[in-house]
Amino acid sequence: MIYADHAATTRLERVAWEAMQPFWFDEYGNASQPYAHARVPKRALAEARETIAACLHAEPEEIFFTSGGTESDHWAIRGCLRDEGTRLWLVPSAFEHHALLAACEERRREGCSVCQVQPSEQGVVTPTCLEQVLFNCPEPACLVSVMLANNELGTVQPVAQLARVAHRYGALFHTDAVQAVGHLPLDVRALDVDLLSASGHKFGGPKGIGFLYVRRGTPLSPFLSGGAQELGMRAGTENVALAVGMAAALRHRWSSMEEDILQLKHLEETLLSCLRAADVTFIRNGTEPFLPGLLSLSFRGADGEALLHALDLQGICISTGAACDRRNTQISHVLRAIGLPELYARGTVRISLGQENTESDVRQIANALLRSLAACSL
Ligand code: PLP
Repeated sequence: MIYADHAATTRLERVAWEAMQPFWFDEYGNASQPYAHARVPKRALAEARETIAACLHAEPEEIFFTSGGTESDHWAIRGCLRDEGTRLWLVPSAFEHHALLAACEERRREGCSVCQVQPSEQGVVTPTCLEQVLFNCPEPACLVSVMLANNELGTVQPVAQLARVAHRYGALFHTDAVQAVGHLPLDVRALDVDLLSASGHKFGGPKGIGFLYVRRGTPLSPFLSGGAQELGMRAGTENVALAVGMAAALRHRWSSMEEDILQLKHLEETLLSCLRAADVTFIRNGTEPFLPGLLSLSFRGADGEALLHALDLQGICISTGAACDRRNTQISHVLRAIGLPELYARGTVRISLGQENTESDVRQIANALLRSLAACSL
Protein backbone atom coordinates (compact mmCIF):
# COMPACT_ATOMS: atom_id res chain seq x y z
CA MET A 1 0.00 0.00 0.00
CA ILE A 2 1.22 3.48 -0.82
CA TYR A 3 -0.36 6.08 1.44
CA ALA A 4 -0.48 9.55 -0.14
CA ASP A 5 -3.35 11.16 1.76
CA HIS A 6 -1.48 12.74 4.68
CA ALA A 7 -3.69 15.84 4.56
CA ALA A 8 -6.59 13.58 5.64
CA THR A 9 -4.66 12.02 8.51
CA THR A 10 -1.22 10.71 9.42
CA ARG A 11 0.10 7.62 11.15
CA LEU A 12 0.87 8.09 14.84
CA GLU A 13 4.56 8.82 15.37
CA ARG A 14 6.23 6.07 17.42
CA VAL A 15 7.56 8.66 19.90
CA ALA A 16 3.98 9.85 20.46
CA TRP A 17 2.75 6.31 21.02
CA GLU A 18 5.53 5.64 23.52
CA ALA A 19 4.99 8.94 25.38
CA MET A 20 1.30 8.11 25.81
CA GLN A 21 1.75 4.64 27.33
CA PRO A 22 2.05 5.47 31.08
CA PHE A 23 -1.22 7.43 31.06
CA TRP A 24 -3.52 4.60 29.95
CA PHE A 25 -2.85 2.29 32.85
CA ASP A 26 -0.56 3.32 35.73
CA GLU A 27 -0.83 7.11 35.69
CA TYR A 28 -4.59 7.32 35.24
CA GLY A 29 -5.18 9.91 37.98
CA ASN A 30 -7.41 12.88 37.27
CA ALA A 31 -5.00 15.75 36.53
CA SER A 32 -7.24 18.22 38.36
CA GLN A 33 -7.14 16.43 41.72
CA PRO A 34 -4.88 17.67 44.56
CA TYR A 35 -3.51 14.29 45.79
CA ALA A 36 -0.20 12.59 45.00
CA HIS A 37 -1.67 10.14 42.45
CA ALA A 38 -2.54 13.11 40.23
CA ARG A 39 0.96 14.64 40.33
CA VAL A 40 2.46 12.80 37.34
CA PRO A 41 -0.48 13.40 34.95
CA LYS A 42 -0.74 17.03 36.11
CA ARG A 43 2.95 17.63 35.41
CA ALA A 44 2.73 15.80 32.06
CA LEU A 45 -0.21 17.95 30.99
CA ALA A 46 1.68 21.13 31.94
CA GLU A 47 4.77 19.93 30.05
CA ALA A 48 2.68 19.09 26.96
CA ARG A 49 1.28 22.63 27.02
CA GLU A 50 4.79 24.08 27.43
CA THR A 51 6.15 22.01 24.53
CA ILE A 52 3.36 23.08 22.19
CA ALA A 53 3.71 26.72 23.24
CA ALA A 54 7.48 26.63 22.67
CA CYS A 55 7.03 25.19 19.15
CA LEU A 56 4.75 28.12 18.26
CA HIS A 57 6.60 30.84 20.22
CA ALA A 58 3.51 31.23 22.43
CA GLU A 59 3.04 31.21 26.21
CA PRO A 60 1.72 27.98 27.83
CA GLU A 61 -1.33 29.88 29.19
CA GLU A 62 -2.27 30.71 25.60
CA ILE A 63 -2.70 27.02 24.58
CA PHE A 64 -6.13 25.42 25.21
CA PHE A 65 -6.60 21.72 24.51
CA THR A 66 -9.65 20.78 22.42
CA SER A 67 -10.93 17.61 20.72
CA GLY A 68 -9.40 18.63 17.37
CA GLY A 69 -9.52 21.06 14.47
CA THR A 70 -13.30 21.09 14.12
CA GLU A 71 -13.81 22.05 17.75
CA SER A 72 -11.07 24.68 17.68
CA ASP A 73 -12.66 26.31 14.62
CA HIS A 74 -16.12 26.24 16.20
CA TRP A 75 -14.77 27.75 19.42
CA ALA A 76 -13.04 30.61 17.57
CA ILE A 77 -16.27 31.46 15.73
CA ARG A 78 -18.75 30.82 18.54
CA GLY A 79 -16.60 32.47 21.17
CA CYS A 80 -16.28 35.93 19.68
CA LEU A 81 -18.21 38.52 21.52
CA ARG A 82 -20.02 41.61 20.33
CA ASP A 83 -20.20 44.99 22.03
CA GLU A 84 -23.52 45.79 23.62
CA GLY A 85 -26.11 46.78 21.01
CA THR A 86 -24.00 46.10 17.92
CA ARG A 87 -24.40 43.48 15.21
CA LEU A 88 -21.64 40.86 15.03
CA TRP A 89 -19.86 40.65 11.66
CA LEU A 90 -17.76 37.64 10.73
CA VAL A 91 -15.47 37.67 7.70
CA PRO A 92 -14.26 34.17 6.72
CA SER A 93 -12.62 33.39 3.40
CA ALA A 94 -14.84 31.51 0.94
CA PHE A 95 -12.52 28.47 0.82
CA GLU A 96 -12.29 27.73 4.54
CA HIS A 97 -12.79 24.18 5.80
CA HIS A 98 -16.45 23.15 6.21
CA ALA A 99 -15.97 23.11 10.01
CA LEU A 100 -15.36 26.84 10.00
CA LEU A 101 -17.98 27.73 7.40
CA ALA A 102 -20.59 25.66 9.26
CA ALA A 103 -19.78 27.49 12.51
CA CYS A 104 -20.25 30.82 10.69
CA GLU A 105 -23.53 29.59 9.22
CA GLU A 106 -24.77 28.67 12.72
CA ARG A 107 -24.02 32.16 13.97
CA ARG A 108 -25.68 33.67 10.89
CA ARG A 109 -28.87 31.81 11.81
CA GLU A 110 -28.62 33.35 15.28
CA GLY A 111 -28.65 36.83 13.75
CA CYS A 112 -24.98 37.59 13.08
CA SER A 113 -23.79 38.74 9.66
CA VAL A 114 -21.28 36.85 7.55
CA CYS A 115 -19.41 38.38 4.66
CA GLN A 116 -17.00 36.14 2.75
CA VAL A 117 -13.72 37.22 1.22
CA GLN A 118 -12.94 35.47 -2.09
CA PRO A 119 -9.55 33.94 -2.90
CA SER A 120 -7.85 34.72 -6.22
CA GLU A 121 -7.76 32.21 -9.10
CA GLN A 122 -4.33 31.23 -7.73
CA GLY A 123 -5.90 30.19 -4.43
CA VAL A 124 -4.64 33.12 -2.36
CA VAL A 125 -6.59 35.64 -0.25
CA THR A 126 -4.86 38.95 -0.90
CA PRO A 127 -4.62 41.78 1.65
CA THR A 128 -6.17 44.12 -0.96
CA CYS A 129 -9.21 41.88 -1.36
CA LEU A 130 -9.64 41.60 2.43
CA GLU A 131 -9.28 45.37 2.78
CA GLN A 132 -12.08 45.92 0.23
CA VAL A 133 -14.43 43.61 2.13
CA LEU A 134 -13.67 45.26 5.48
CA PHE A 135 -13.97 48.74 3.99
CA ASN A 136 -17.42 47.89 2.55
CA CYS A 137 -18.68 46.20 5.73
CA PRO A 138 -21.65 48.32 6.97
CA GLU A 139 -20.37 47.97 10.56
CA PRO A 140 -16.90 47.15 11.93
CA ALA A 141 -16.15 43.42 11.60
CA CYS A 142 -15.56 41.48 14.79
CA LEU A 143 -13.47 38.61 13.41
CA VAL A 144 -11.62 37.73 10.19
CA SER A 145 -10.74 34.08 9.58
CA VAL A 146 -8.35 32.94 6.85
CA MET A 147 -6.70 29.52 6.96
CA LEU A 148 -2.91 29.27 7.02
CA ALA A 149 -2.71 26.59 4.32
CA ASN A 150 -5.67 25.49 2.26
CA ASN A 151 -6.41 21.79 2.76
CA GLU A 152 -7.38 21.10 -0.87
CA LEU A 153 -4.86 23.27 -2.73
CA GLY A 154 -1.97 23.48 -0.29
CA THR A 155 -1.61 27.22 -0.93
CA VAL A 156 -0.07 29.07 2.03
CA GLN A 157 -1.82 32.35 2.77
CA PRO A 158 -0.10 35.67 3.59
CA VAL A 159 -1.46 35.49 7.14
CA ALA A 160 0.80 38.12 8.75
CA GLN A 161 -0.25 40.71 6.16
CA LEU A 162 -3.93 39.72 6.40
CA ALA A 163 -3.82 39.96 10.20
CA ARG A 164 -2.35 43.46 9.92
CA VAL A 165 -5.27 44.54 7.69
CA ALA A 166 -7.84 42.96 10.05
CA HIS A 167 -6.31 44.71 13.07
CA ARG A 168 -6.28 48.05 11.23
CA TYR A 169 -10.06 47.67 10.93
CA GLY A 170 -10.41 46.73 14.59
CA ALA A 171 -11.18 43.03 13.94
CA LEU A 172 -9.64 39.98 15.61
CA PHE A 173 -7.79 37.54 13.35
CA HIS A 174 -8.21 33.75 13.48
CA THR A 175 -6.31 31.29 11.34
CA ASP A 176 -7.15 27.62 10.84
CA ALA A 177 -3.61 26.22 10.85
CA VAL A 178 -4.71 22.56 10.95
CA GLN A 179 -2.74 21.70 7.79
CA ALA A 180 0.27 23.84 8.65
CA VAL A 181 1.15 23.06 12.28
CA GLY A 182 3.91 20.45 12.35
CA HIS A 183 4.64 21.01 8.65
CA LEU A 184 5.89 24.60 8.51
CA PRO A 185 7.89 26.66 11.01
CA LEU A 186 5.32 28.91 12.72
CA ASP A 187 5.64 31.83 15.11
CA VAL A 188 2.34 33.19 16.41
CA ARG A 189 3.98 36.51 17.36
CA ALA A 190 5.39 37.05 13.87
CA LEU A 191 2.07 35.97 12.33
CA ASP A 192 0.31 38.44 14.67
CA VAL A 193 -2.77 36.19 14.95
CA ASP A 194 -5.20 36.32 17.89
CA LEU A 195 -6.52 32.77 17.51
CA LEU A 196 -5.05 29.69 15.80
CA SER A 197 -6.57 26.20 15.38
CA ALA A 198 -4.58 22.96 15.21
CA SER A 199 -5.25 19.22 15.19
CA GLY A 200 -2.96 16.46 16.50
CA HIS A 201 -3.66 13.75 13.92
CA LYS A 202 -2.48 15.93 11.03
CA PHE A 203 1.13 15.87 12.28
CA GLY A 204 1.66 12.38 13.67
CA GLY A 205 -0.25 12.86 16.92
CA PRO A 206 -3.32 10.92 18.04
CA LYS A 207 -6.84 11.57 16.71
CA GLY A 208 -9.38 13.34 18.92
CA ILE A 209 -7.09 16.07 20.26
CA GLY A 210 -6.11 19.51 19.06
CA PHE A 211 -5.67 22.95 20.49
CA LEU A 212 -6.71 26.54 20.12
CA TYR A 213 -4.05 29.22 20.62
CA VAL A 214 -5.66 32.28 22.19
CA ARG A 215 -3.43 35.34 22.40
CA ARG A 216 -3.35 36.70 25.96
CA GLY A 217 -6.09 39.29 26.44
CA THR A 218 -8.23 38.19 23.47
CA PRO A 219 -11.92 38.51 24.36
CA LEU A 220 -13.34 35.00 23.91
CA SER A 221 -16.18 33.27 25.74
CA PRO A 222 -15.65 29.78 27.26
CA PHE A 223 -16.48 26.85 24.98
CA LEU A 224 -17.76 24.40 27.58
CA SER A 225 -18.86 25.33 31.08
CA GLY A 226 -19.12 23.22 34.24
CA GLY A 227 -15.52 22.77 35.32
CA ALA A 228 -12.33 24.70 36.01
CA GLN A 229 -10.19 22.82 33.47
CA GLU A 230 -8.34 24.82 30.80
CA LEU A 231 -8.56 27.96 32.96
CA GLY A 232 -12.33 27.53 33.09
CA MET A 233 -12.58 27.98 29.33
CA ARG A 234 -13.19 24.35 28.30
CA ALA A 235 -14.64 22.17 31.03
CA GLY A 236 -14.20 18.38 31.10
CA THR A 237 -11.60 15.98 32.49
CA GLU A 238 -8.41 16.42 30.51
CA ASN A 239 -7.22 13.56 28.28
CA VAL A 240 -3.62 13.55 29.44
CA ALA A 241 -2.47 10.68 27.18
CA LEU A 242 -3.69 12.39 24.02
CA ALA A 243 -2.23 15.77 25.00
CA VAL A 244 1.14 14.15 25.78
CA GLY A 245 1.06 12.23 22.47
CA MET A 246 0.26 15.36 20.49
CA ALA A 247 3.07 17.33 22.14
CA ALA A 248 5.59 14.52 21.54
CA ALA A 249 4.60 14.34 17.85
CA LEU A 250 4.91 18.09 17.43
CA ARG A 251 8.33 18.22 19.10
CA HIS A 252 9.47 15.34 16.88
CA ARG A 253 8.27 17.07 13.71
CA TRP A 254 9.87 20.33 14.80
CA SER A 255 13.26 18.72 15.24
CA SER A 256 13.42 17.46 11.63
CA MET A 257 11.30 20.07 9.88
CA GLU A 258 13.96 21.53 7.59
CA GLU A 259 15.05 18.13 6.20
CA ASP A 260 11.44 16.97 5.90
CA ILE A 261 10.49 20.04 3.85
CA LEU A 262 13.44 19.51 1.47
CA GLN A 263 12.60 15.81 1.05
CA LEU A 264 8.91 16.53 0.37
CA LYS A 265 9.79 19.24 -2.17
CA HIS A 266 12.05 16.75 -3.94
CA LEU A 267 9.27 14.13 -4.05
CA GLU A 268 6.81 16.71 -5.40
CA GLU A 269 9.21 17.68 -8.19
CA THR A 270 9.81 14.02 -9.09
CA LEU A 271 6.08 13.38 -9.36
CA LEU A 272 5.49 16.49 -11.46
CA SER A 273 8.37 15.74 -13.83
CA CYS A 274 7.08 12.16 -14.40
CA LEU A 275 3.68 13.60 -15.35
CA ARG A 276 5.14 16.40 -17.48
CA ALA A 277 7.22 13.88 -19.43
CA ALA A 278 4.01 12.12 -20.50
CA ASP A 279 1.45 13.32 -23.01
CA VAL A 280 -1.29 14.45 -20.61
CA THR A 281 -2.94 17.82 -20.11
CA PHE A 282 -3.05 18.77 -16.45
CA ILE A 283 -2.55 21.73 -14.18
CA ARG A 284 -1.26 22.03 -10.63
CA ASN A 285 -3.79 24.26 -8.90
CA GLY A 286 -2.65 27.23 -6.83
CA THR A 287 0.65 29.03 -6.68
CA GLU A 288 3.79 29.10 -4.50
CA PRO A 289 4.26 29.02 -1.57
CA PHE A 290 2.75 25.56 -1.17
CA LEU A 291 2.47 23.32 1.84
CA PRO A 292 5.32 20.81 1.29
CA GLY A 293 4.06 17.59 -0.28
CA LEU A 294 0.50 18.67 -1.08
CA LEU A 295 -0.45 18.72 -4.77
CA SER A 296 -3.87 19.47 -6.23
CA LEU A 297 -3.76 18.21 -9.81
CA SER A 298 -6.53 18.68 -12.36
CA PHE A 299 -6.51 16.44 -15.43
CA ARG A 300 -8.48 17.92 -18.34
CA GLY A 301 -11.61 15.88 -19.12
CA ALA A 302 -10.91 13.24 -16.47
CA ASP A 303 -13.15 11.98 -13.68
CA GLY A 304 -11.30 12.55 -10.37
CA GLU A 305 -13.57 10.20 -8.42
CA ALA A 306 -12.90 7.38 -10.93
CA LEU A 307 -9.15 8.08 -10.72
CA LEU A 308 -9.27 7.77 -6.92
CA HIS A 309 -10.94 4.34 -7.22
CA ALA A 310 -8.63 3.19 -10.01
CA LEU A 311 -5.60 4.01 -7.84
CA ASP A 312 -7.22 2.39 -4.82
CA LEU A 313 -7.44 -0.87 -6.82
CA GLN A 314 -3.68 -0.52 -7.42
CA GLY A 315 -3.03 -0.11 -3.66
CA ILE A 316 -2.58 3.67 -3.66
CA CYS A 317 -4.49 6.06 -1.36
CA ILE A 318 -5.09 9.54 -2.73
CA SER A 319 -8.06 11.85 -2.42
CA THR A 320 -10.29 14.07 -4.53
CA GLY A 321 -10.23 16.86 -1.95
CA ALA A 322 -11.29 17.28 1.64
CA ALA A 323 -11.72 13.93 3.41
CA CYS A 324 -14.94 15.14 5.00
CA ASP A 325 -16.35 15.93 1.54
CA ARG A 326 -15.93 12.35 0.33
CA ARG A 327 -19.58 11.51 -0.12
CA ASN A 328 -20.21 14.75 -1.91
CA THR A 329 -19.48 14.21 -5.59
CA GLN A 330 -20.16 17.86 -6.46
CA ILE A 331 -17.27 20.14 -7.34
CA SER A 332 -15.82 21.30 -4.04
CA HIS A 333 -16.49 24.81 -2.74
CA VAL A 334 -12.72 25.40 -2.86
CA LEU A 335 -12.40 24.69 -6.59
CA ARG A 336 -15.52 26.79 -7.18
CA ALA A 337 -14.06 29.65 -5.16
CA ILE A 338 -10.94 29.77 -7.36
CA GLY A 339 -13.12 29.57 -10.49
CA LEU A 340 -11.52 26.43 -11.93
CA PRO A 341 -13.28 25.50 -15.22
CA GLU A 342 -15.54 22.43 -14.86
CA LEU A 343 -13.56 20.42 -17.43
CA TYR A 344 -10.57 20.57 -15.09
CA ALA A 345 -12.41 20.72 -11.75
CA ARG A 346 -14.08 17.32 -12.27
CA GLY A 347 -10.69 15.73 -12.96
CA THR A 348 -9.07 16.92 -9.74
CA VAL A 349 -7.17 14.74 -7.31
CA ARG A 350 -5.24 15.66 -4.17
CA ILE A 351 -1.97 13.90 -3.46
CA SER A 352 -0.50 14.64 -0.04
CA LEU A 353 2.90 13.10 0.61
CA GLY A 354 4.46 12.39 3.98
CA GLN A 355 7.85 11.67 5.52
CA GLU A 356 7.59 7.92 4.91
CA ASN A 357 6.98 8.27 1.15
CA THR A 358 9.89 7.47 -1.14
CA GLU A 359 10.95 8.37 -4.68
CA SER A 360 9.77 4.93 -5.78
CA ASP A 361 6.32 5.68 -4.28
CA VAL A 362 5.88 8.89 -6.26
CA ARG A 363 7.02 7.25 -9.51
CA GLN A 364 4.46 4.49 -8.91
CA ILE A 365 1.76 7.10 -8.20
CA ALA A 366 2.59 8.95 -11.44
CA ASN A 367 2.59 5.71 -13.46
CA ALA A 368 -0.71 4.59 -11.92
CA LEU A 369 -2.29 7.96 -12.77
CA LEU A 370 -1.02 7.80 -16.35
CA ARG A 371 -2.20 4.17 -16.75
CA SER A 372 -5.65 5.00 -15.36
CA LEU A 373 -6.38 8.24 -17.19
CA ALA A 374 -7.64 6.68 -20.41
CA ALA A 375 -10.23 4.61 -18.54
CA CYS A 376 -11.22 7.51 -16.27
CA SER A 377 -12.41 10.21 -18.64
CA LEU A 378 -15.81 11.83 -18.41
N1 PLP B 1 -9.49 22.49 9.28
C1 PLP B 1 -8.79 22.01 8.23
C2 PLP B 1 -8.08 22.95 7.33
C3 PLP B 1 -8.73 20.63 7.99
O1 PLP B 1 -8.04 20.17 6.95
C4 PLP B 1 -9.41 19.75 8.88
C5 PLP B 1 -9.43 18.29 8.63
O2 PLP B 1 -9.35 17.83 7.52
C6 PLP B 1 -10.11 20.31 9.97
C7 PLP B 1 -10.14 21.67 10.14
C8 PLP B 1 -10.84 19.43 10.95
O3 PLP B 1 -9.90 18.85 11.84
P1 PLP B 1 -10.28 17.57 12.76
O4 PLP B 1 -10.29 16.39 11.87
O5 PLP B 1 -9.19 17.52 13.77
O6 PLP B 1 -11.59 17.88 13.39
